Amino acid sequence: MPTYPRAPVEFVRGEGCRIWDAEGREYLDFFSGLSVHNAGHCHPRIVAAISEQAAAIAGMSNLFYSEPAMRLTELLVSSSLGGRAFLCNSGAEANECAIKLVRKHAHGRGIERPEIISLDFAFHGRTLAALSATPRLAREDLFGPLPQGFVSVPRDDADALRAAIGPNTAAVMIEPIQGEAGVHPIADEVLIAAREACDEAGALLVFDEIQTGMGRTGTLWASEWTPVKPDVMTAAKALGGGLPVGACVISPELGEGLTLGDHGSTFAGGPICARAAIEALEILSDPELLAASRERGEEIRAGLSDHPAVSDIRGRGLMLGIALSDGVDSREVAAAALASGLVVNAPNPETIRLLPPLVVTADEVQTGVATLRDALDGRG
Ligand SMILES: *Cc1c(COP(=O)(O)O)cnc(C)c1O
Repeated sequence: MPTYPRAPVEFVRGEGCRIWDAEGREYLDFFSGLSVHNAGHCHPRIVAAISEQAAAIAGMSNLFYSEPAMRLTELLVSSSLGGRAFLCNSGAEANECAIKLVRKHAHGRGIERPEIISLDFAFHGRTLAALSATPRLAREDLFGPLPQGFVSVPRDDADALRAAIGPNTAAVMIEPIQGEAGVHPIADEVLIAAREACDEAGALLVFDEIQTGMGRTGTLWASEWTPVKPDVMTAAKALGGGLPVGACVISPELGEGLTLGDHGSTFAGGPICARAAIEALEILSDPELLAASRERGEEIRAGLSDHPAVSDIRGRGLMLGIALSDGVDSREVAAAALASGLVVNAPNPETIRLLPPLVVTADEVQTGVATLRDALDGRG
């Protein structure tokens, strides 16, 4: 079905930050397959782990033990909230799990009709419940009747958020930096208001770190630099090292979370995907790599901020939204960059989103910045 606008290029090979199309032409990748290849394309450790596991066993369902899934869960939990995790196969599934979990938690507090609050312009995924928490795409006219119990509030208004949180609130769901909205960081005061009002109401704070996680913002998780800690965190995208892996992680205070019969998924935690994710987590937890990625982010900012077609640069680490001057169309800029061998993304007509692999070198940053500047020239 024609659900995607596709650029007329087929990529057939990748290595680090470089990819090649079917004609053998080389490109620099500043998109990472939508922040999936944070460790770079075809990282040798990930390739070796996948190959080894594929030749051993590809899985026997969740009705038996599987060491890779257990090891992944342990690594993931100890690197983040410290409680438990449910593994799944995508970001939307991770959020579905979080939604079921916070609703169950609310029912446990005697709330009959729990509400989940999300922010305007949020993106939490395409399945029906995740979509209902995604205000701009939750089209009742096309996909209704949508699941009930979802409300949204203005994105940058701490008071509106505080006022919306009440006795029926199960949870507030937030991306610390909204990615699909064009890289929009949520202000500290909004995060603090969410944390305080959730604590007062007994509600849970969910961080959707599907895009901000896995080193994307310069630390393994964005929650490391925000002023608050969530109760629930969802991860996916780069978690699988290029393969489909998602996870919903909870803090120790939430105990077991979902229990026998509450939830499940046939492929979740399968050993090939889990082995890839273990490698990705270990690679992207390296403090030296994270420090280098922060430096590369600063270099990109420094290299673009004075261009007349650039009005602002938002984001953190290597999750950058280049806001363009009035009248400059990001889709034309992205197409011009692609034609010159640089892959960037246009999440909306006003913004170029840069999500390079974290292993990008200083030389590759210089090349990418020069190519993007050429694509911007004459447009500001
Ligand atoms: C991509 C994304 C999702 C959805 O993940 P899928 O794997 O596409 O289902 C959810 N939330 C955020 C913040 C995302 O960036």
